[in-house]
Amino acid sequence: MIFYSVKLIPFKIISQVTFIEIEDNLFQLSSTVMYLNNDYYIPIESFFSILQNLSEPSSFRYINDEIRFTSNFEDQKTIKTVDLSNEKEKWEFKTIIIDAGHGGKDPGAVGYRGTKEKDIALDVAKRLEKKISRNMNVKVIMTRDEDVFLRLSERTKIANDNKGSLFISIHTNAAEDRRASGFETFLIGLNKNEYAAKVAARENAVLELEGSANKDLSGEDLIQATMAQASFAAYSETFADLVQKEIKKRVQSKDRGVKQAGFVVLARASMPNVLVELGFISNPSEEKKLRSPQYRDQLATAIYRAVEQYQKTL
Ligand SMILES: [Zn+2]
Repeated sequence: MIFYSVKLIPFKIISQVTFIEIEDNLFQLSSTVMYLNNDYYIPIESFFSILQNLSEPSSFRYINDEIRFTSNFEDQKTIKTVDLSNEKEKWEFKTIIIDAGHGGKDPGAVGYRGTKEKDIALDVAKRLEKKISRNMNVKVIMTRDEDVFLRLSERTKIANDNKGSLFISIHTNAAEDRRASGFETFLIGLNKNEYAAKVAARENAVLELEGSANKDLSGEDLIQATMAQASFAAYSETFADLVQKEIKKRVQSKDRGVKQAGFVVLARASMPNVLVELGFISNPSEEKKLRSPQYRDQLATAIYRAVEQYQKTL
């Protein structure tokens, strides 16, 4: 007697990515695929709904927490189902990760008067941390709270390990043209133009200090990273818009808008994330403003207000 039959469906899943490729079509899952101890974990509800739309329901079976398939890259892989209540928890607004860019041997951009990006970023990050902790019922984790060197991957690891609900990386910009000024907020994405590529290259330059083999994020890696964030990209965008709006309200500086570029520090964050460039340290008058504690406090207040507004949209 044939107890059940299984239709063989070729499919591809990649760890840390929210997409599944079935019979050459891409489908979006509700959360990322996880790979742990030789097992792949996928969000089962969205997986089933994709399969149900794909073919007759009898073509796969779900027995004792296991589905059996043949994939096109390895034979007979067992996919175990997993309780994703932990994943849901991630979507509750509980923990904010504040990442002060650069630090230690990496000063970041250095201004005409010698102002270092790492110091401005840390000061604004600390002010932001205080404002959020004082006024909101959320946990705040700083990737660094002193002048220390941190690898880009360590920053994202801290964010992911702490199950952050929002990741804010704080930086100041620099350009060869000293007249360049203003604030802008970046999302992870393909470098749409030369400018975006330059900003990303400058922020990724620390990889050289880290001694990493990969000096840049491009091509397939970047597409994969962007795809992995598809499930929460809209949240990152909402927050980025709010940051721009709130800074604009408070300081006399040019609103350069929300942009996208291939930042390594954002690539592996599995939560809504942005990189804020507070201003151009390479512009002498903007550097002067950034040196003012009042100005930095206004920037911190603006980001804090953006966090507050963002929480209301959830
Ligand atoms: Zn930076």
